[in-house]
Amino acid sequence: MSVSFSAIAAFGCRVPRDSLRGKTRKRGCSCLGIVDGIRHCPYCGRKIWIEVDEWIFDTDRREFDGLEVCGSTDDRELFICAVSVGCDEIDSSMVRIGEFDIDTLRSQVKLILDKYGLWNDKEWGLWVIPHVSY
Ligand SMILES: [Zn+2]
Repeated sequence: MSVSFSAIAAFGCRVPRDSLRGKTRKRGCSCLGIVDGIRHCPYCGRKIWIEVDEWIFDTDRREFDGLEVCGSTDDRELFICAVSVGCDEIDSSMVRIGEFDIDTLRSQVKLILDKYGLWNDKEWGLWVIPHVSY
């Protein structure tokens, strides 16, 4: 067992982890048939609709409305990023993030996060997000 370190540099906005969870209404069973106007399935008896607490972003692709979602070792927060670059201890060469207009990136992220009430001016910036795994 070994310890590994890595870091991501990213332009983005830090948000509370819980802010990317929400309630979604889903079908309570997999039976086929019309379910309008009834509360329980006539075939299996389960509720037709249930509320599920789940992530509101694509956890497989780590994508939220076109922006990247980055985690850190602090499980209370997530970062929603416009641009990111990662490096690890094996490849510790210098990495250039690239050329872009910071005000444009900020506007793009703000536009999307405002839709969800997640924008916070104080949490926007260039973040170095460390990650340590054991
Ligand atoms: Zn059913």
